[in-house]
Amino acid sequence: MDLGIRGKRAIVCAASKGLGRGCAEALAGEGVDLVLNARGADALETTAAAIRAAHGVEVTTVAGDITTEPVRAAVLAAAGAADILVTNAGGPPPGLWSGWGRDDFLRAIDANMLTPIALMQGVLPGMIARRWGRIVNITSAAVRSPVPVLGLSNTARTGLTGFVAGTSRQVAPDGVVINNLLPGIHDTDRATALDTGVSRTEGIGIDAARRNREATIPARRYGTPAEFGAACAFLCSQHAGFIIGQNLLLDGGAFNATM
Ligand code: NAP
Repeated sequence: MDLGIRGKRAIVCAASKGLGRGCAEALAGEGVDLVLNARGADALETTAAAIRAAHGVEVTTVAGDITTEPVRAAVLAAAGAADILVTNAGGPPPGLWSGWGRDDFLRAIDANMLTPIALMQGVLPGMIARRWGRIVNITSAAVRSPVPVLGLSNTARTGLTGFVAGTSRQVAPDGVVINNLLPGIHDTDRATALDTGVSRTEGIGIDAARRNREATIPARRYGTPAEFGAACAFLCSQHAGFIIGQNLLLDGGAFNATM
């Protein structure tokens, strides 16, 4: 299927590795030029070079922490007239309700709610003026089904979800489509870190920790960044114009519900 977005320009945040990179690769495969961001310059440049070589698209890099205002401004400036925005950043650390103070909540809300909102506010005027835009926010399965130790993430990402629910309907008449992608467990460094933690606390090998987690997923495996990216590219395509304000859960069936 031709997604109809060849020659469009996309910002993909937190994209040197993992799910962000999966989205960048899938968009590049459709002929989309990219502005890529991550904090570590070396990995970012390596990823950019690999994408240029594989897909022949233009890739501009902006290294820095996307949760800071100057880096967001640099990303938006590098993109100019962005047609597509994929927001992403690292997740907050785990913990317990009694341990989180005001500053912990402010940091999480800043990174996982106010940062994507600021980026959307940065690109929306241009998208509305050109009457075409696609925005995908990478959130988490925790928005549907809380992970208790990730209370900071549950809180901040649910706030973002509320903002998107209303705003997506306000900008839909102007041809701008905003949706959220909710990853369950995917095969990235973050999943490896989670498995490493379980292997330490349970005194089992990392392979056993992974097998145990895979057994809880009806698909019996972790998702891949490539299939996550393919879903993202579809939501950024010409064909997604009637999909407004949705929360697409990509979790191999782990969330057990009829609807
Ligand atoms: P990952 O493999 O660890 O990759 C994270 C990417 O984001 C890297 O390129 C990293 O590069 C960049 N990054 C992190 N913090 C950043 C920041 N503040 N500014 C700019 N770039 C930043 O993680 P992932 O698995 O792809 O996860 C992506 C998001 O999905 C996270 O928010 C995570 O919580 C969420 N999620 C993931 C899963 C999963 O199973 N993988 C499940 C649910 C939710 P640098 O470190 O160089 O900046």
